[in-house]
Amino acid sequence: MKNIIRKIDPPSSFDKLRTTDGQRNFVRKKEDFRCEHCGAEVVGDGYTDHCPKCLWGKHVDREIPGDRESECKSLMEPVRVLYKKGEYRIVYRCTGCSHKFEVRAGIGDDREKLIELVN
Ligand SMILES: [Zn+2]
Ligand SMILES: [Zn+2]
Repeated sequence: MKNIIRKIDPPSSFDKLRTTDGQRNFVRKKEDFRCEHCGAEVVGDGYTDHCPKCLWGKHVDREIPGDRESECKSLMEPVRVLYKKGEYRIVYRCTGCSHKFEVRAGIGDDREKLIELVN
């Protein structure tokens, strides 16, 4: 299998692939914020979109998680937690516009809070 790949893609095209990959426009934004629900200082790791202490979030994304396009900016209440395929997913309902969506729980999220919301 490896030999076949090598025949189709000579080393030069591998280099090209690598260059394209290096130019990807993905910007990981680190955002520290103070939780507007419990007041905890949250240190962002670039993916943080909710408070790890109380799990409340803020409606900042519109379509894609991370797009930060929403005009709403209301607090989002964690209404329940799902446990799927070995990971926790938090279901939110926005207190401003009732928009609902779910996100993956973060590594630093309060386990007890998560478990509380599973049932
Ligand atoms: Zn909080
Ligand atoms: Zn909203």
